[in-house]
Amino acid sequence: MNAVSEAFQIHHTGLAWNNQFQQLGPDFYTPLAPQALPEPYWVGRSIAVADLLGLPPEQLASDALLQALAGNRPISGTQPLASVYSGHQFGQWAGQLGDGRACLLGEANGLEVQLKGSGLTPYSRMGDGRAVLRSSIREFLCSEAMHALGIATTRALCVVGSDEEVARESLETAAVVTRVAPSFIRFGHFEHFAARNQLPQLKTLADYVISRYYPDCNSASTLGANPYANLLMQVTERTAVMLAHWQAVGFCHGVMNTDNMSILGLTIDYGPFQFLDAFDPGHICNHTDRGGRYAFARQPDIAHWNLYALAQALMPLIEDQALALQALDTFKPVFERTWQQLMRAKLGLLDAAREEDQTLIADLFTLLAQDRVDYPIFWRRLSHAVGGQHFAPVRDLFLDRAAFDGWQMRYAERLSTGAPDQAAALMLKTNPKYVLRNYLGELAIEAAKARDFSGVANLAVLLERPFDEHPEFESFADFPPDWASRIEISCSS
Ligand code: AMP
Ligand code: MG
Repeated sequence: MNAVSEAFQIHHTGLAWNNQFQQLGPDFYTPLAPQALPEPYWVGRSIAVADLLGLPPEQLASDALLQALAGNRPISGTQPLASVYSGHQFGQWAGQLGDGRACLLGEANGLEVQLKGSGLTPYSRMGDGRAVLRSSIREFLCSEAMHALGIATTRALCVVGSDEEVARESLETAAVVTRVAPSFIRFGHFEHFAARNQLPQLKTLADYVISRYYPDCNSASTLGANPYANLLMQVTERTAVMLAHWQAVGFCHGVMNTDNMSILGLTIDYGPFQFLDAFDPGHICNHTDRGGRYAFARQPDIAHWNLYALAQALMPLIEDQALALQALDTFKPVFERTWQQLMRAKLGLLDAAREEDQTLIADLFTLLAQDRVDYPIFWRRLSHAVGGQHFAPVRDLFLDRAAFDGWQMRYAERLSTGAPDQAAALMLKTNPKYVLRNYLGELAIEAAKARDFSGVANLAVLLERPFDEHPEFESFADFPPDWASRIEISCSS
């Protein structure tokens, strides 16, 4: 068969495709096919995500699927589209945005499948519709890593690369990530129709999200029988839980614009994100974020701000400001409760919470920040210390040893009321040995640029089980090298 006729062949995945989002109607999207990407190659693949979709794993080795996910062959049964949304970026109303480089193929097994970096759409604005290899690898690895850490997130089936050049600060090459989630609807989808006063569309969207993802919003809650207020409350609660997990694990998202906030409370749109190395509440991981709007410690407040923007958009449906405010007020208590629970697990406090636990935790964070202690290493060493009752390796991480000793005495006393062995076991399952530090991603990316994808594959395997010891990767659990602090990651991706 010659190259031309092969390119037009339809790929049959064997999946039963449908697309409920598409049934919302043409006001919500533009139908369009992904743009062809020349001579694609596999960069990274997840068997676990293939399983979720019901995709036979051998397809992840097939050239036909590679071509299809690169946009070179239509996939039988899909109805690709780019959706329209708006949003607030860095605190300012940005107007219409939309899937400027993403394309929803449809749904398989109840999950939406989306290509990111698949070329120009009517919403590309000044962009080229592409994503670079570097950011595609980061998104692929991080979404799977977050899932393994127990954090709600979109998933990634694979990354395909190509030598096609794309211009960013320098010339780079293009790649496409295939992302998977129950829905890619964002706060910005609601803001879009509210800002245009398109109330029937706003209602259609809200009713769809409720009936499909939040069906119990139709029953009365503490807020009464207002389904839209209930929706706001449940989104608020899910977002608060997600933020508590981010803060506990030391994850900095970097671009918490309202168009990057999932209506399902999933971590979405991995750009300049970073797992903290040294603990610094003021850490800014996005080089473009000069003012530090999205600095690590500000993330919960920003999420709450974003929920206010969502509430504003839902107001024409909620029709009762007091109710909307009541829904938003659940953020702080849910965040606080979840964060305290996560912290107690990280510290191995198994018995009932005590009044003094809050100060014990707060004082620890003061010390971690003062001495810029490496965040993942602190928690992992603490977990081992509790098991062996030997705290010297933890103490070594602090400059102010006397302050640490004071804290550690209080902690030891508190732990002695429980069962240290059980505590250590819990801590080792709660405090990951491996996280996707920026420099680890960078090493895998550099190798991938030279067409060596083993680094991506190794990290994918490692981060799928971040709590296991993996002695063969011991050095990946060590302190970052000096050059790690000089890595600059911007919005450009
Ligand atoms: P992000 O900062 O990645 O969340 O993107 C914000 C908006 O810009 C979204 O509407 C994206 O689809 C769009 N966008 C980002 N990069 C590109 C690109 N290279 N080409 C087209 N649109 C883009
Ligand atoms: Mg985005």
